[in-house]
Amino acid sequence: MKKKITKIGVLTSGGDSPGMNAAIRAVVRTGIYHGLEVYGIMRGYTGMVENEIVKLENRSVANIIQRGGTMLKTSRCYEFLTPEGRAKAYENLKKHGIEGLVIIGGDGSFKGAQIFSNEYDIPCVGLPGTIDKDIAGTDFTIGFDTAVNTAVEAIDKIRDTADAHDRLFIVEVMGRDAGYIALHSGISTGAEHILIPEKKTKVADLIASFQEKEKRKKLVNIIVIAEGDDFGGADELAKLLKKEIPQLDLRVCILGHIQRGGAPSCFDRVIASRMGYHAVECLLEERFNVFIGIVNNKICYTPINEAVKKKQRISDEWMKIVKILAT
Ligand code: ADP
Repeated sequence: MKKKITKIGVLTSGGDSPGMNAAIRAVVRTGIYHGLEVYGIMRGYTGMVENEIVKLENRSVANIIQRGGTMLKTSRCYEFLTPEGRAKAYENLKKHGIEGLVIIGGDGSFKGAQIFSNEYDIPCVGLPGTIDKDIAGTDFTIGFDTAVNTAVEAIDKIRDTADAHDRLFIVEVMGRDAGYIALHSGISTGAEHILIPEKKTKVADLIASFQEKEKRKKLVNIIVIAEGDDFGGADELAKLLKKEIPQLDLRVCILGHIQRGGAPSCFDRVIASRMGYHAVECLLEERFNVFIGIVNNKICYTPINEAVKKKQRISDEWMKIVKILAT
């Protein structure tokens, strides 16, 4: 019979997202509840390669549930992309007797986990920690709700000043491959146009829409654009519009990294806590190499290699709603 896992490691990797601390806390406390030793691996896969690994106790994760960022730090580890780097990582895990890993990160981190667990006999369980919500197999990712609420707060403020001057604002939000932050923040702030990587927008349609709005004196307009949209972000779109309609009173605001920081929302703390708990249960039940998702408010498990391949699809109905509501 296979030996039961007694020591696990937890790490946060890739882009940070608010709620990662709540997930770490849940993993540590659930692990200790089950009699496991739990080790924190610093700076993502870098800590595995460089042996920066510390034992965590219940008290180590006190007073962090409400904090953004990650107490374990995060990084992009280029050595882990190589077989030599992963061999070093494995040797370091062996030194500590770590037999299973919980990886909190995005699809890149999951890809790394998948490759590592194929090469070495270390089971991995993933928790989707990404503000972009760009992983299929879960309705929510840790950090998305906080990020989108930060964007909403900012866009509401921008609308006040846009309204005072009868101006058009182009607000760029995060989302290199996925437009969910743009879609949700745009709908909830009444944006006139939402431009996302998943849908192609024709310049001619945009211009026609502004000309039509100008005619009926609708002068305050907000465009929310995801950084990864085909236009190439807010600055590029502004240049294009200015060229076509020089009289447009137009300003650009790029929200940038404020979307990653700040205290996690209640929602993110709750899903991080649930997911962290279930990650440890997975390792104990030998449900290996999956990532934890929540679909229809139920915990579900998707093979970690599928998270790598799939992307979410945004239905045409979303865009129809945007159009109807922003007349
Ligand atoms: P995210 O997890 O936020 O998508 P990245 O794509 O930057 O972030 O991935 C985080 C880290 O995961 C990388 O720096 C690297 O260490 C590891 N990783 C990503 N892809 C691979 C891969 N193909 N092989 C091994 N490790 C990988």
